[in-house]
Amino acid sequence: MIYLHIPFCKQKCSYCNFHFSTSLQFKDEMISAMKKEIFLRKEELQNNSLKSLYFGGGTPSILTTDEIHSLIDEVLKYFSFEKDVEITLEANPDDLNRTFLKDLSKSPVNRLSIGTQSFFEEDLKLMNRAHNASEAESSIKRAQDFGFDNLSIDLIYGSPSSNLEIWKENLNKTIALEIPHISSYALTVEPKTALENWVSKGKISTPKEEDQNLEFYYMTDFLKDHGFEHYEVSNFAKSGFHSRHNSAYWKYKEYLGIGPSAHSYNGTDVRSWNVANNQQYIKQLNSNILAKETEILSEQDQFNEMIMIGLRTIWGVDLENLNQKFSENILNYFNKEIQNKIEEGILEIENNHLKIPEKHWFMADGIAADLFQV
Ligand code: SF4
Repeated sequence: MIYLHIPFCKQKCSYCNFHFSTSLQFKDEMISAMKKEIFLRKEELQNNSLKSLYFGGGTPSILTTDEIHSLIDEVLKYFSFEKDVEITLEANPDDLNRTFLKDLSKSPVNRLSIGTQSFFEEDLKLMNRAHNASEAESSIKRAQDFGFDNLSIDLIYGSPSSNLEIWKENLNKTIALEIPHISSYALTVEPKTALENWVSKGKISTPKEEDQNLEFYYMTDFLKDHGFEHYEVSNFAKSGFHSRHNSAYWKYKEYLGIGPSAHSYNGTDVRSWNVANNQQYIKQLNSNILAKETEILSEQDQFNEMIMIGLRTIWGVDLENLNQKFSENILNYFNKEIQNKIEEGILEIENNHLKIPEKHWFMADGIAADLFQV
């Protein structure tokens, strides 16, 4: 699979620390540089037939449909698509106007991941989103009118501007809009964000973990009652609408990340990441030099990664695979630790897969971290 990172946004959301620029001055140069990177790295994937192409960001819907087409065409010069390929575009509600959607519906893009975050004005203002509550809803209906049924929306819970009642309304609207996939995250205060600044100055209160915990488990029960599978801590899907891109990532498949700050993984022990700087990225690619750093993952790194990713999913960690892959040294500590946690009820083994029972998923990252090799 291939990930294309589009490093531009209209404005900076208050909670975001992803890599992007709010100036579009070098958009053309960026697209040319990304095409160059696709060309230079065309041999890197073992499998040239793609199951998934994912436009992430930043804000990919800031591109024109011609630019989206041209990037897809570039990918198709060196790779082919499997018959049922998933081509996802992350889009912000304010970009999903009729003209854009009409043109996009004629492109190979067959899945939209919409950055809705909330259907409530107060939440959107606090998050400094570029869309309002009415666009949050109308953009989804418009996308469906243009035939985009394979839709995912992002929702954020646990904001100081919200409460359980508002969260319930957000989920009710999601169900009423018949959206088949939801990615939902707790609002977190990241370093160097406006949110961190407001919290440190006492302008807003820190998001409360107990509220987030309550809203997380309300969502879990509510969405399951409405036919969703909770297949990863932050992801819910109706049957047939699981994200192929994310599922492949959670199953340790190889992927190629193109664009500034994009990460790549060879499926075993090599990870690389591109420089998180638009100018530098363009400059290097213009000189035919890849703007990436590479790391060989130690046995310990690979083990920790497998535990961290696997325990966040419904599939868990395949113990047979783990036993084959890792040395006794690593497994001895792990086997002792998991026994303790199984007795405590925060881990379980099912069909030789180690899992966290869903009622403890809110704490999944902490439970996984306790099993890390350090
Ligand atoms: S649109 Fe997305 S990437 Fe851009 S600032 Fe907002 S959250 Fe971050």
